[in-house]
Amino acid sequence: MNVHDSEKMSGILKGEGYIEVDSAQDADLVIFNTCSIRQKAEQKFYSELGRIKELKKRKPGLTIAVAGCIAQQEGKNILKRVPYVDHVMGPQNIHMVRDILKSNINRIAIDDNPLIADTELPVERKDEVRAWINIMYECNNFCSYCIVPYTRGRERSRPSSAILSEIKGLAEKGYVEVTLLGQNVNSYASDISFPQLLKAVDKIEGIRRVRFVTSHPKDLSDDLIAAIRDCEKVCKHIHLPLQSGSTKILSLMNRKYEYNDYVHKVNKIRKEIPKIAITSDIIAGFPDETVEDHRLTIKALHDIEFDGIFAFHYSVRVGTSAATMLGQLEDSIKLSRLNEILEVQNDISERKNKALLNTLQEILLETPNEKDPQKMSGRTQTNKTVSISLNGKHRTLKPGDLLNVRIIKANRHSLDGIIEEGPN
Ligand code: SAM
Ligand code: SF4
Repeated sequence: MNVHDSEKMSGILKGEGYIEVDSAQDADLVIFNTCSIRQKAEQKFYSELGRIKELKKRKPGLTIAVAGCIAQQEGKNILKRVPYVDHVMGPQNIHMVRDILKSNINRIAIDDNPLIADTELPVERKDEVRAWINIMYECNNFCSYCIVPYTRGRERSRPSSAILSEIKGLAEKGYVEVTLLGQNVNSYASDISFPQLLKAVDKIEGIRRVRFVTSHPKDLSDDLIAAIRDCEKVCKHIHLPLQSGSTKILSLMNRKYEYNDYVHKVNKIRKEIPKIAITSDIIAGFPDETVEDHRLTIKALHDIEFDGIFAFHYSVRVGTSAATMLGQLEDSIKLSRLNEILEVQNDISERKNKALLNTLQEILLETPNEKDPQKMSGRTQTNKTVSISLNGKHRTLKPGDLLNVRIIKANRHSLDGIIEEGPN
């Protein structure tokens, strides 16, 4: 979401005559687009901000702006705490980048923006074949650990006509893969439902792959499963964050499903779409998580066998309801549980990757390998990264090509392959 917000700010600034440079030393304007989902992201920002202080001393004309979730959270406190910051913009106000930079009075833009879903902004995309598309903004779920509903605000869905016309425009420019973005795409609520939107995107000529993130398990419907199954271009991969294998912890997290509901949905998905890849998010060491709750998460990993997970240790976010819960755990406990989760999952991911050895996979070529011109990297429909040997024969291949690739080596987090046929 943040990467795409940055692409929009770049689009607006390009229209104002700005050009991108490689290093802050050469810039007249530096914007930090910040994330506050976990403490580590915040710390990273503050240390980057500290580093730019010297540059500002040497270059007093340099303008420094802070955008994103930390900007929203801290508001004018940032200007007080860090006097060399010139402007502050929350995630709902990136459209203000043009005005705010011109004005000496209005240095802070953090108001609620009810028009966010109806405002079309120019986008300067970093990739030439794959594109992010917002279908909705922000979140209403208030999971008890999560800062997003406080920093990004209330959920708002874009009209389907705007989404479809943006994707048609992208297809005309040569984009072949789109990823539909929302904190919970399953609660997309506009003139049509999310499964209907997927079906409409599936029909757009020129687009060859459709992905979406993220699906909240509580809102995953049979209609969505059927749409993934039936739409040819919709990739057979779903990211479905479980967070914990303990129903007690899920309830404390305010996730609004029980562990058994989650398993029931996974079973349904796998029955309808046997080859689908399922990935997930897990939080280790949530308040009041006992050894037994942690065991239930480990058991869940063994029972469900995700293709991959993103796992994090619980990070206290001030302002969320979990921050004041009793039973906060020591960092050492959270970290040792996280390590165990990662170890268990690494073995499962490796085993699942090994099962793909010698199979033929359809790969969308993405990036040339900078170190080895004989290789390019791409992704399977199921979102697994494959390093592909070109063997000198395929100099004409380019990002966006679809190839049939034979998997010859399976690693923990990636695959190696050789081209069998294509581009298709
Ligand atoms: N809306 C999406 C969802 O619910 O899956 C993504 C939200 S968030 C950007 C991505 C992941 O960060 C969450 O699924 C959760 O596992 C993790 N996360 C959020 N807040 C966290 C916190 N306070 N501590 C640790 N992990 C957190
Ligand atoms: Fe955060 Fe939950 Fe919303 Fe995801 S669904 S952004 S975890 S509050």
